[in-house]
Amino acid sequence: MFHPEEVIFAPTGQCNLACAHCRVSRPAARLELAPALAFLDGCLEIGVDRVGFSGGEPFLEPDFLVGLCRGAVDRGMIFDRLMTNAVWWRDLPALEAVLGRLFEAGFDGQFGLSIDSWHDQDEEKLLGFIEAAFRIWSRRDIVDILSVQAPDEGPGLAKLEAIARRFGGVLEIEGGEPLAIIDHSHDSRLAEGEDVAEALGMDIFRFPYSASAAEGAWGAKDWFVDDHCEGPGNVLYVHPDSRVAACCGFANEAESLILGRLGVDSPAAMLARAASMPHIKACYGEGLGELRSRLEAQGLVFPGKTGDQCFFCDWLCVQGHIPGVPKA
Ligand code: SF4
Ligand code: SF4
Repeated sequence: MFHPEEVIFAPTGQCNLACAHCRVSRPAARLELAPALAFLDGCLEIGVDRVGFSGGEPFLEPDFLVGLCRGAVDRGMIFDRLMTNAVWWRDLPALEAVLGRLFEAGFDGQFGLSIDSWHDQDEEKLLGFIEAAFRIWSRRDIVDILSVQAPDEGPGLAKLEAIARRFGGVLEIEGGEPLAIIDHSHDSRLAEGEDVAEALGMDIFRFPYSASAAEGAWGAKDWFVDDHCEGPGNVLYVHPDSRVAACCGFANEAESLILGRLGVDSPAAMLARAASMPHIKACYGEGLGELRSRLEAQGLVFPGKTGDQCFFCDWLCVQGHIPGVPKA
């Protein structure tokens, strides 16, 4: 069942980049700090003590980030990832000022840098962000990398190689997939369990590209394997317009996954609502694979097969197929 383990705030949907694969809508709305802090109290009441950030580009709202981090530290909460494209800053003093404020506020999670062939970042700015983060946090494991597969992996791999070169590490690749950027000179001390702050260790998490229907998402040979939303699921995702969704995946702007609103509904009320929402019960309980079989048995014919569970979830939402209720 749906059991959120983290709250993720998307302070804005605006972004300084315009990646071709981006599906974030760009509402003008942005999150206010006071209701977000109150929401943290409610999260703790239901056992959610981990906080992350996404967007849009979250660093376009630095005051929100700093205020929310202070509030999370005051409440004894822990940090997960702050997702960023790392190139939102104007000049070095401006970058250092914002990162310095975040450090002072107590942020000690990780920066999740989006680096792949889709993100067209200026390489020097990308390296400048990493360098500043290493310096301000005095740690070289403060950054990891989230990367979406692309038809041409060249530009993404070139950026990863540039990071490895600049910071004295090697880009580890296995079966054509980048795994990590590591400086092996610290391996023996790390093996002995020592906390080596200067050890470079950037994990690279790879994700398949989610194609749209127009790009052939229905053209798979086999159906997806249901994972009950193990990847992007089980979070409370707070959109810039204050809607709170039950996941941070492909479909998280669909009404069938919206649990309530910041400043209106408490996390406890949202959890109670989730337990009776058919689409959420199908995703996290029965499983979308089971639901697919049931809908087929009821006579629904799909446009093809898809290997992408989250695309299928979104398609059901858009088409208005409420689980268990055939569309009229
Ligand atoms: S950096 Fe992220 S939010 Fe911005 S355009 Fe690219 S994918 Fe979208
Ligand atoms: S299947 Fe739906 S609810 Fe589950 S993670 Fe994907 S988009 Fe979110």
